[in-house]
Amino acid sequence: MTTVSSVLEQPIRSDWSSEEVRTLFDWPFPDLIFAAQSLHRRHFDPAAVQISTLLSIKTGGCPEDCAYCPQSVHFDTGVERQKLMDLETVLAAARRARESGATRFCMGAAWRTPRARDLERVGEMVRGVRELGLETCVTLGMLEAQQADYLAECGLDYYNHNLDTSPEYYREIISTRTYQDRLDTLAHVREAGIKVCCGGIVGMGEGSADRAELLRALANLSPHPESVPINQLVRVEGTPLDAAEAVDPLDFVRVIAVARILMPRSHVRLSAGRTAMSSEMQALCFLAGANSIFYGERLLTTPNPEGDSDLALLGRLGMRPEGDAAEAASR
Ligand code: SF4
Repeated sequence: MTTVSSVLEQPIRSDWSSEEVRTLFDWPFPDLIFAAQSLHRRHFDPAAVQISTLLSIKTGGCPEDCAYCPQSVHFDTGVERQKLMDLETVLAAARRARESGATRFCMGAAWRTPRARDLERVGEMVRGVRELGLETCVTLGMLEAQQADYLAECGLDYYNHNLDTSPEYYREIISTRTYQDRLDTLAHVREAGIKVCCGGIVGMGEGSADRAELLRALANLSPHPESVPINQLVRVEGTPLDAAEAVDPLDFVRVIAVARILMPRSHVRLSAGRTAMSSEMQALCFLAGANSIFYGERLLTTPNPEGDSDLALLGRLGMRPEGDAAEAASR
């Protein structure tokens, strides 16, 4: 039986059953938050939040048909296509991110899979951003093993590739690739020695069983993804999900808490959708074990809270960016 004491006592696992994960979702809220916060404190400073910045280095015109995405060519969303940015523009953005307190710089390109020449240019960006002292993350679509090896040679720290939703609900959201394609890319990234950033989206019309199965699929990756972004759908006009029903904020917090319980050592990131979240909801997410955010005005093509309001919220909560001098002094 899955009880509070059993999840607090057991080692880190990658063999969760559907029933166990669904049971966690059914727990009384106080038990769920207590277990999540207890595990969080065991592995992290509970007042520290890792900050990443995301830059769209190639925007729009993507041949995939992800139903939530304004960058797909299949939907008329008004997103302007932009070619792959030049190196200097990317490095200037990375310097600004570093000055704003980011420790990781993520670069996203709207491709199904990168072409050889484009991958080389991204490799140069990875090298340049690392020289600035920032961790690097890229999301470029599907990768073959040799493409992942090349990015590892360039010094890439993280590759982002989300599972998005449950295996069962996936075909409702994307028809141009399969869940197995995602898992194959994740395996290539892992085998190349790159850390994995992999999460999903809440609010695409999925049921609570789908949320449980998404988290089970993530938690049964061995080892767990080092970074687990949990997004709340941003309903963009022109996408098939523009009228999706809003998520109950407490249900979203439950997803964060269950992610923390299943993957106690991973950074769980509050990603897209934060502009629609109140300060109180974000505070609850931190209590439930979220310890990473994206910082900056835009997340690829959708709005994000302004950096100052993020720092103000962390300040109101007595929290601070991970790696901050104050954090080090308090230990
Ligand atoms: S989510 Fe990524 S792969 Fe899917 S349509 Fe958007 S840019 Fe393309």
